[in-house]
Amino acid sequence: MCILAYRLPVDDKMKYILVTGGVISGIGKGVIASSVGTLLKSYGIRVTSIKIDPYINIDAGTFSPYEHGEVFVLDDGGEVDLDLGNYERFLDIKLHRDNNITTGKIYQHVINKERRGDYLGKTVQVVPHITDAIQEWVERVANIPVNGDQQRPDVCIIELGGTIGDIEGMPFVEAFRQFQFRVKKENFCCIHVSLIPQPRTTGEHKTKPTQASVREMRGLGLSPDLIFCRSVNPINNSVKDKISLFCHVPPEQVICVHDVSSIYRVPVLLEDQGLGHFFIKQLQLTHFSPGPKKLMARWRELANRYERLIDEVTIALVGKYTELEDAYISVVKALKHSALAVNHRLNLTLIEAADLEPERLNDGPSKYHTAWHQLVSAQGILVPGGFGIRGTEGKILACQWAREKKIPYLGVCLGLQCAVIEFARNVLKKKDAHSTEFRPETTNPVVIEMPEHNTGVMGGTMRLGKRKTLFTTQESSLRKLYLGVDYVEERHRHRYEVNPKFVDLFESHGMKFVGRSEDGERMEIMELSDHPYFVGVQYHPEYISRPLKPSCPYLGLLLASCGKLTSYLSRGCRLSPQMYLEEPQDDTSDEELSALDQNGAAIAKPVLLDAPE
Ligand code: GLN
Repeated sequence: MCILAYRLPVDDKMKYILVTGGVISGIGKGVIASSVGTLLKSYGIRVTSIKIDPYINIDAGTFSPYEHGEVFVLDDGGEVDLDLGNYERFLDIKLHRDNNITTGKIYQHVINKERRGDYLGKTVQVVPHITDAIQEWVERVANIPVNGDQQRPDVCIIELGGTIGDIEGMPFVEAFRQFQFRVKKENFCCIHVSLIPQPRTTGEHKTKPTQASVREMRGLGLSPDLIFCRSVNPINNSVKDKISLFCHVPPEQVICVHDVSSIYRVPVLLEDQGLGHFFIKQLQLTHFSPGPKKLMARWRELANRYERLIDEVTIALVGKYTELEDAYISVVKALKHSALAVNHRLNLTLIEAADLEPERLNDGPSKYHTAWHQLVSAQGILVPGGFGIRGTEGKILACQWAREKKIPYLGVCLGLQCAVIEFARNVLKKKDAHSTEFRPETTNPVVIEMPEHNTGVMGGTMRLGKRKTLFTTQESSLRKLYLGVDYVEERHRHRYEVNPKFVDLFESHGMKFVGRSEDGERMEIMELSDHPYFVGVQYHPEYISRPLKPSCPYLGLLLASCGKLTSYLSRGCRLSPQMYLEEPQDDTSDEELSALDQNGAAIAKPVLLDAPE
């Protein structure tokens, strides 16, 4: 099959798109930047991305999920800002730890050079040394392949965290002011994402904050080519004209990004405003075939389908950081991808695990009973990864409920460990069974610290990143969901593991470890016999779930929660033809598409659920 027919020889110049933010942060700059990438990708352009976080931490590894949301983990074990997850999901790429730049990383790099004497006795300064280091880093990382095919990307999208004017961001802004001349104007494009408020008093869209922010940016030497206006409602042409006039951009380069029904709609919204053609022209990418391709049609279909979902499925997420949904962002995304694949709207209930513990009754009955009511009302239960003892007993109780009542259950990392502890206590009757993370003195340590990670130091001591898990048997629903493959490669982030000494005992009582590490020592996948779906994985499958390729363990949970798992498996994991194929190249003909569909790939297949079981 000719898969790259439309791709003409590429101009060897890397193209850069810088995305900055104005007025306030948290208005969806990451989603917009990723959507621009999706749009370009639909033209056959290879896209990579760099996220800049101007904080001084070296990486996100030591962040509290309360403050920053989830720590995202990459194939190479990099612990990075959760925004990198957006890029990976939207663009279906695999990024590297260097794709996340922090002030800490840049200074560490420059200081190391200074200590080595590389600056030959010169005074080391923000300009030019820090700004040079930033530019060199960006140029180097932009060229690293991210598609798994070892091909160099064509376009690099750089998202500068925070907003224009932040003190921390200044060296980066100055670096990009210089960078536009270094790489030449035709290879550089600047997007400013700004807020257009609509105060209720007048109901009018207000452009002043955007004007001020663009003025500030221009004062720093960067002039936006495109202004993306974030607003609740669409802005009209007179507002566009005003922004155009005061911000020195043509009106057609003022783009409206109002609130939409789902993030799947954003790339479509941008394409519909002619942005694809703009980039092709502006960045001289004319050797790429113009016109939106099949990939964009898929996103459009996804967005339409999301809006039309009628049936609902309720999943309880029993966790510790439930006040901040961002703390579990990849888990929530993975649940959403799978819910959409089974044509159900996800009704997610976040349950604070500690509220399920009887001690909670000391604070009055309300929280305890509400939590239990939510748990027993759920069609499926998920216990995600986590650290620290708070709430573990509640998680263990949730596992017991799911096991005994045969409610579909997925345990991720700590969720697997809790399921193992519960089984040891209530089935194997080892009442004090525990993880040594939480009770080192237990006489039944069913979860123990991995020997080589027992360094006693926090930070950088975990088993991190992509590792192989080999299936040990055909008798596994998860293996069938993974389309019968011999092994899977998923991302890890843990320090503790199931104690191999207890494995035979567990297995003889029906708790099977059907996936193990390559040396056979680490228990990676657990399944319970005699249960519709009770699965635990030591890895974090949510990190590589994609809207068009949902993660298999999550898909299994959703299928089982809708009562469709058995029929899905008996039909050979094959259903709807139109989506969730191995991503086709955009010139793939319909015949080739259906051939792809026949051959399948080791990804979750689409599920259009018709016949009930
Ligand atoms: N705290 C557990 C461990 O270190 C689980 C980690 C996790 O869930 N990511 O093994």
